[in-house]
Amino acid sequence: MNKQDLVCIVCPMGCRMTIEKDESSQLGYKVTGNTCKRGVTYAVKEVTNPTRVICTTVIIEDFYLKRLPVRTDGEVPKNMIFDCMMEINKTKVKTPINVGDIIVEDLLGTGVNVIASRSAK
Ligand code: SF4
Repeated sequence: MNKQDLVCIVCPMGCRMTIEKDESSQLGYKVTGNTCKRGVTYAVKEVTNPTRVICTTVIIEDFYLKRLPVRTDGEVPKNMIFDCMMEINKTKVKTPINVGDIIVEDLLGTGVNVIASRSAK
């Protein structure tokens, strides 16, 4: 990687940043365009170990809505998102569900759970 442009997704400011290798810096990278230091953390993580929280829905069988909103309670490696979605898509739930209930435990061995984003009673 010589130089990479990216947009920080940590807050709604969406700073446009550039990251490049810099052996002289403590992190090994030089980041420009960030407004705060969280941008540096995000940029380095994005080029070394990118991860994401997954927000999606699962089928709910006995509720007036056909799908229940869910999300992961932590970040999963970006290269596992497709496999995680395939696993989540197999899931069907029934009421009652409380917000925060675990819908899928330890998603594909990531240590991250899929939890309900709303209640359904
Ligand atoms: S660099 Fe800081 S201000 Fe800019 S988007 Fe990221 S978190 Fe927000």
